[in-house]
Amino acid sequence: MGPVEECCVKTQVAIIGGGPSGLLLAQLLQTRGIDSVVLERKTKAHVLSRIRAGVLERGLVGLLEEAGCADRLHAEGFTHDGTLLSYGDEMFRVDFAAHTGTPVVVYGQTEVTRDLYAAREASGGPIAFEVEDVRIEGADGPTPSVIYSQGGQMRRVDCDFIAGCDGFHGVSRQAIPLDQRQEYEKVYPFGWLGILSETPPVNDELIYANSERGFALCSMRNANLSRYYIQCSLSDSPEDWTDEGFWEELKRRIPADQAAKLVTGPSIEKSIAPLRSFVCAPMRWGRLFLCGDAAHIVPPTGAKGLNTAASDVHYLHRALTRFYETGESDGIESYSTDALARVWKTQRFSWWFSSLMHRYPDQSAFDLHMQVAELEHLRSNQAAQKAMAENYVGLPY
Ligand SMILES: Cc1cc2nc3c(=O)[nH]c(=O)nc-3n(C[C@H](O)[C@H](O)[C@H](O)COP(=O)(O)OP(=O)(O)OC[C@H]3O[C@@H](n4cnc5c(N)ncnc54)[C@H](O)[C@@H]3O)c2cc1C
Repeated sequence: MGPVEECCVKTQVAIIGGGPSGLLLAQLLQTRGIDSVVLERKTKAHVLSRIRAGVLERGLVGLLEEAGCADRLHAEGFTHDGTLLSYGDEMFRVDFAAHTGTPVVVYGQTEVTRDLYAAREASGGPIAFEVEDVRIEGADGPTPSVIYSQGGQMRRVDCDFIAGCDGFHGVSRQAIPLDQRQEYEKVYPFGWLGILSETPPVNDELIYANSERGFALCSMRNANLSRYYIQCSLSDSPEDWTDEGFWEELKRRIPADQAAKLVTGPSIEKSIAPLRSFVCAPMRWGRLFLCGDAAHIVPPTGAKGLNTAASDVHYLHRALTRFYETGESDGIESYSTDALARVWKTQRFSWWFSSLMHRYPDQSAFDLHMQVAELEHLRSNQAAQKAMAENYVGLPY
């Protein structure tokens, strides 16, 4: 049975994707009186069940404040003034607050998304869930629209602009003709096996560990919810790893004094994420703007995925607000250039930090010495620490 009827609504901005980029953009536009419709492929419960990022840059915190969605973040988030890096049993701290005057905030992406949904619902802004067969039409002309089906019925949103916030596997990037876009990609020869456990974190700040057995990261969501990762083979699947096997491997990769105080327990989530660097350019095609993972992916070392999505939202909502409030389209014209300038710098940092901390299958003895030399330089050199801190807390928009 095909679709039976076509319903049409009109809005200013059609937003494809109800993840953090789409919802944050919708709320920021709403505060300036700009209407939007959000289209999400999954259910709300599914979106809220995804365990992903957890470290927020100052810029993202500022955007959440501007959107009126930061009360719980300020009440429940944890301020981190620095982070620890280890190699073997050596460990040192990079002090973000001392070098930049700014901390980062640990608050899960799930909670960010929950707060954004609550704000969207409270403001009565429309969200359509479980949309299918989403298609973009007329983005290179003056009257774009998004066609989709929901519950067997075809629907259409006519709009001024389309924000493609539908993640790496969405339809928005594919809507830009192949000869109009360039894609740049680096695939890393390993993944991250992550678990979430209801145990107190091993340390009150994150520990990034370079060990001869591979990378590990000790992170957290709150005082009794820990997130740990270990570098794993791309051929592994989560079922290959028992909880006991994971804990034993993690203990071998972090300094002995940390391993000795690690509290273990059953995992409540276990997953593997492959590591990839990816950029699509340009990020605008006519009246279609790509935002967040739809346009770029970073390896998670350095926690830049969600934060870079937020910086796109910053540029896009400024451009659209300027257009609707003054009629000026210069921000729209320069959106792709502005967003990409910061994206590439964040790509560089994520690539550098990933290269510094992981074991690569083809690494030579010379390469290993270079990693140690760089870590020791970072340990002993305040200028190097400042450069890392500036990138970690987030480059200015
Ligand atoms: C497994 C995993 C772990 C991660 N861990 C970290 C981390 O530790 N630190 C970090 O900084 N970053 C991490 N990231 C990256 C971070 O989560 C993303 O950068 C962030 O979610 C980007 O937000 P987004 O809204 O742009 O995209 P997404 O969160 O992917 O949201 C896109 C939304 O669009 C919807 N959608 C897709 N296709 C369509 C369609 N055709 N129509 C309508 N809706 C559609 C999707 O269902 C989804 O809800 C991780 C990512 C993954 C996948």
